[in-house]
Amino acid sequence: MIKWEDQTPTARTHELERWHNAVQGVPVKTSDGSPTVVLRAACRDAVLSHITGHREERGGLLLGFAFHDAQSPAVPSVIDVIDAVAAPTGTGTAVSLSMHTDLWQEARRRAERFDESARGDIKLMVVGWYHSHPGLGAFFSGTDRATQASFFRELWHLGLVVDPQRGEWAWFRSQDSIEIERQHVVDG
Ligand SMILES: [Zn+2]
Repeated sequence: MIKWEDQTPTARTHELERWHNAVQGVPVKTSDGSPTVVLRAACRDAVLSHITGHREERGGLLLGFAFHDAQSPAVPSVIDVIDAVAAPTGTGTAVSLSMHTDLWQEARRRAERFDESARGDIKLMVVGWYHSHPGLGAFFSGTDRATQASFFRELWHLGLVVDPQRGEWAWFRSQDSIEIERQHVVDG
């Protein structure tokens, strides 16, 4: 179980054309209405190194960008997930983990550093959260759905669950915890 104690800062999506300009291109098909999640290797590695080999639940925040087609500004078409910010260890047990305000501050610091070094007016932001289910399988529990509904309400807000023991990953999005099908998650 994850308890949240702060809220996601307000943020916005960018036009898809900006994504093509901003980051290395990845083939993306968005025709069936589901956004594509681009999981960058640095983020995947950060998540895995944080959670692998630990029997307690661990988690944190996902940083990235969200993009929309110019014709449909309200609908996210690409969510580019480029980094993960680990919640401090020591607060987790086998069944619960709290993520404190410090975590959000660290995420903001990380985003500001990134913005200074790279992409100008395209702001790195919190695009979701992740946590582990060691040995339990990758699914969203009732508590996870409640967390998503409370704090990750944008259409492009992601929830990632990983079972490092089984090697299972599952992605959800928006306040309704819609599961994102595997073919919509690509490595970048
Ligand atoms: Zn969970």
